[in-house]
Amino acid sequence: MLVEIGVAIIGAGVIGLATAGEITQRKKEVLVFEKNHSFGLETSSRNSEVIHAGIYYPEDSLKTRFCVEGKSLLYELCDRHDIAYRKPGKIIVAANEDETAQLEKLYEQGRRNGVEDLMLLSRTELKKLEPNIEARAGLLSPSSGIFDSYTLLKFLYSQAREKGAKFVFGTEVIGIERMGAKYRVEIRDREGISAFISRVVINAAGLNSDRIAQLAGIDVAKAGYKLHYCKGEYFSLSSKYRNVVNRLIYPTPEQAGHGIHVTVGLDGRVRLGPNARYVEEVDYRVDETQKKAFYNSVQRFLPHIELEDLAPESAGIRPKLQGPGEAFRDFVIAREDKASLPGLINLIGIESPGLTAAPAIARYVGRMVDGLFN
Ligand SMILES: Cc1cc2nc3c(=O)[nH]c(=O)nc-3n(C[C@H](O)[C@H](O)[C@H](O)COP(=O)(O)OP(=O)(O)OC[C@H]3O[C@@H](n4cnc5c(N)ncnc54)[C@H](O)[C@@H]3O)c2cc1C
Repeated sequence: MLVEIGVAIIGAGVIGLATAGEITQRKKEVLVFEKNHSFGLETSSRNSEVIHAGIYYPEDSLKTRFCVEGKSLLYELCDRHDIAYRKPGKIIVAANEDETAQLEKLYEQGRRNGVEDLMLLSRTELKKLEPNIEARAGLLSPSSGIFDSYTLLKFLYSQAREKGAKFVFGTEVIGIERMGAKYRVEIRDREGISAFISRVVINAAGLNSDRIAQLAGIDVAKAGYKLHYCKGEYFSLSSKYRNVVNRLIYPTPEQAGHGIHVTVGLDGRVRLGPNARYVEEVDYRVDETQKKAFYNSVQRFLPHIELEDLAPESAGIRPKLQGPGEAFRDFVIAREDKASLPGLINLIGIESPGLTAAPAIARYVGRMVDGLFN
């Protein structure tokens, strides 16, 4: 006899953890499968730790909706549960006339998205706030911040467990088969291959989420679920630049990412990145030959830095639905009723601002699950 559970969640990144907490709160039995030996070892711990305001995306997108909602929920969570954060604000800087026009568009986009505290800055206003930055103009977002993402992950994990969610680490999901109104979830762990029966399956498998959808029988190419990996590397700036800026400083955005930005961590250390390079596989090594490109990019607005002050630091990989040069794609958060898989919920392409959006996404998925049990 196979063991039967209410909800199986695949993946213990920030999305799986937040969703597990939300669903146990709704009195459902939850089992989380994670292939690594602990939670949050992939994209959720390889990012900029920025709480985004919600400026960049179209107003009717899930990215905007959950970023704006998630930002408030996340600041509240940090306040209530002693998760360290700072809200220094962020400035997007423009180097020339074209970029200044882009800032004005971003200002309008942000206002449409409900980010009401944005301010356009002249060169003089910018200089007063950031004496070390050289730029023609800026866009200030006072509600952007940075936080300690590891403490958030740890909190979400403990909270979900306290509410009754169970976690099995070192356990990879290798098959999903519909059996009437339920699913047979096949797993592989140290002891071999076994299976569970679950009424609902939530795919929060990050970089593998397209493969999980495929395992369940979805034609990934046809559904538009195929992921493209886009690597983001970071370099650190030497300690002599501690607090060289007061806020997070971003260039005007590129197509595949937000551009190589400057963040000052909670400990005052300065980090540059991430860049955005499409890659074929998951490899977290930093390519040192990128150093000059980082230098050139940041030196445009932080002219006093020297090439030898940069050192390779870390990297993460974005699970992107859009390939190189392709248009904007939104998060996929879908009940797969149309694919005749009614109890399957796919979360695919959860790239930035996924960390900020996680508490709001979890609530949304919680309501979807309620709908499946009613
Ligand atoms: C370079 C970079 C910078 C970013 N900066 C920011 C930022 O500043 N602010 C922000 O809001 N967002 C940012 N993001 C986005 C954010 O980090 C992600 O959206 C978020 O972490 C995604 O979480 P997740 O739970 O979906 O994925 P993950 O953290 O990748 O978790 C998925 C989990 O599923 C597990 N898994 C996969 N396959 C299986 C399987 N078959 N069986 C069992 N387990 C499986 C994996 O091991 C993994 O633990 C950034 C992303 C990158 C790459």
